[in-house]
Amino acid sequence: MEVSVSNEQQTGRSVLVTGGNRGIGLAIARAFEANGDKVAITYRSGDVPEGLLGVKADVTDAGSVDAAFTEVEAAHGPVEVLVANAGVTRDMLLLRMSEEDFTSVVDTNLSGAFRVIKRASKGMIRLRKGRVVLISSVVGLYGSPGQINYAASKAGLVGMARSLTRELGSRNITANVVAPGFVNTEMTAVLPEDTQKSYLSSIPAGRFAEPEEVAKVVRWIASDEAAYISGAVIPVDGGLGMGH
Ligand code: NDP
Repeated sequence: MEVSVSNEQQTGRSVLVTGGNRGIGLAIARAFEANGDKVAITYRSGDVPEGLLGVKADVTDAGSVDAAFTEVEAAHGPVEVLVANAGVTRDMLLLRMSEEDFTSVVDTNLSGAFRVIKRASKGMIRLRKGRVVLISSVVGLYGSPGQINYAASKAGLVGMARSLTRELGSRNITANVVAPGFVNTEMTAVLPEDTQKSYLSSIPAGRFAEPEEVAKVVRWIASDEAAYISGAVIPVDGGLGMGH
């Protein structure tokens, strides 16, 4: 099959970033905005960052996800680039972890991604193009004590992206996973200082990442330049998870 490969960078696409009101999600939203895309973000409370279309959504609720997509579609057209970024942690060693600690994290990080992908895929199939980027974590494949719930949810995203690739790859839709290591955000700021120090000592780069360093990789994997990459796991972790 002949496929024309354009050198022009696509802009003006309808992009939706879940949990894009702060942290890594906001940096991702800003990166697409700088590319000239029409960017919407989901948020649950607080203010919408300037210049972005904010739609209220809780990814644990399919009805709320549907309403958010409907709003984005009305303003920007069908979502062509979906970044499933919303995520939570509820760290606890296994013996003290309740079933609720486990299922609530999986419900947001993994089932939440399912809900938004399912809703977005309808429009992408119709458009005959789409980019899905799932924000996982180095700990999804590396493991982490106290994060059985979080690591399981983040590992699940890999199987999700790969299955999506096999289902929808022939329709010009790609699905990839970006797996950040430790990034300077509110999520890591709450870690005790000695935990941060011990993580730092195991990162070959010797530092945490800035959210923008993750955002640029997400923007690239959603670009035309990466049209033939699908089902990949791209680490942005300063070498922490090498080989996994
Ligand atoms: P933050 O805690 O700063 O932000 C999390 C975002 O997710 C917020 O926008 C939050 O919205 C949103 N969110 C949480 N639960 C829900 C929900 N049920 N419905 C909708 N939105 C929700 O996290 P980071 O920016 O650090 O992390 C972003 C992603 O990157 C997460 O998936 C995280 O697991 C992943 N990651 C982070 C790393 C790090 O070092 N920081 C490392 C590796 C991966 P609200 O403001 O409304 O609470």
